[in-house]
Amino acid sequence: MEDKQLKQMKKSFQILQSRFKHIANDEKTQKLQERVINIRKWSIENMETLIDEAKENFKRNDIDYFEASDGNEVIEIITQLVNEYDPDNKIIIKSKSNTIGEIKGRKKLEDKGFKVIETDLGDRILQLKNSDNRPVHNTGPAAHLSVDEITDIVNNALGTNLKPVHKDIMETVREDVLNYVNNAKVGITGANAIASEDGAFAIVHNENNVAYASSRKLHIVIAGIDKVVSSVEEAVSICKLESVFGAGSPISSYINIIAGPSKTADIEKKLLKPMYGAEKVVVILLDNGRRKSKEECLWCINCGNCIVNCPVYNAVGNEFGFNYYLGGRGIAMSRFLNENESKDDDKLFMCTLCGMCTFNCPVRTPTNEVIENLRCLGDYHMEVHEKIKDNINSKGSPYKK
Ligand code: SF4
Repeated sequence: MEDKQLKQMKKSFQILQSRFKHIANDEKTQKLQERVINIRKWSIENMETLIDEAKENFKRNDIDYFEASDGNEVIEIITQLVNEYDPDNKIIIKSKSNTIGEIKGRKKLEDKGFKVIETDLGDRILQLKNSDNRPVHNTGPAAHLSVDEITDIVNNALGTNLKPVHKDIMETVREDVLNYVNNAKVGITGANAIASEDGAFAIVHNENNVAYASSRKLHIVIAGIDKVVSSVEEAVSICKLESVFGAGSPISSYINIIAGPSKTADIEKKLLKPMYGAEKVVVILLDNGRRKSKEECLWCINCGNCIVNCPVYNAVGNEFGFNYYLGGRGIAMSRFLNENESKDDDKLFMCTLCGMCTFNCPVRTPTNEVIENLRCLGDYHMEVHEKIKDNINSKGSPYKK
């Protein structure tokens, strides 16, 4: 990342931290945090049972279910579904989804001829940026770009002549995205949590773009298998905690709970669908190495508070991570994911093992311990360490000549 972008990122992180500090020590926040820690631990321990229960209840709720072992399978499923629903214009509108980021889903769908439009403002700005457009934070993907840079990006991409005025940029991008929304029959979203006993999923957001994506004729939800919890109440608790630690806000503007296609029975109690929302809802749960990863790596609620407090991330930015998995947790998860990208062993050693990520994680994911254990497991003997070891063995000290 360029220096000016690192500076801007840190400035944005400071704003986030100052918002967060007002609610971090609140008794309500701490109770919520304890509740979610228990939910995440129990859900991961019982993941297979919860997935089976969710499958049954999706069926009951008229939601189609698929499980994909890797990113390529996800793309195959989406391609088939979209070709059924929108064979002519191939526009897909998309809201934020870390799981799609993990598999580089947008790029893979674009390679297949689809036009995928990001609807989240930060993600859309990065999409318009065209090159060097990896996000820097889970809830603030473009937090490293100044308003001047964003103005140039939007003017270049959309042929506008905007001045660096925040609201004007927002309105211009919104109008451009809405042109695509109106022509799209397919929307893709992620899910922050999936409630097995309700056969429903919860999505937390501020912009209401999820309402657009989830009200196309076909709504496809993509999430990791680790996102399944027991109930809607638990799912909402996770969404609330994500708002607190991800955006410094006690609650986001919207939490959508979706438990099936749009329907009505208002005429003689005859069931008709769709009314205003999706006619067909499909859930794709992705494994992609999660089943063989460490349980504690799956507790994460994707708030991004670990990277805000990570000294390495603050020094080098999103180079410290793997694909869209940012920071130390990304490096740790990269050991387990079925992605073809090379997993750069050196990045395991970029971590200082300071533990700031664990301390600041709302569910106490012990990222530093996981990284330390992964270093021990691998064949990562550095030459310099070998020399130190030899010196100790032969001369009784690492320093003796
Ligand atoms: S332990 Fe590593 S990943 Fe965690 S905050 Fe410290 S440097 Fe970052």
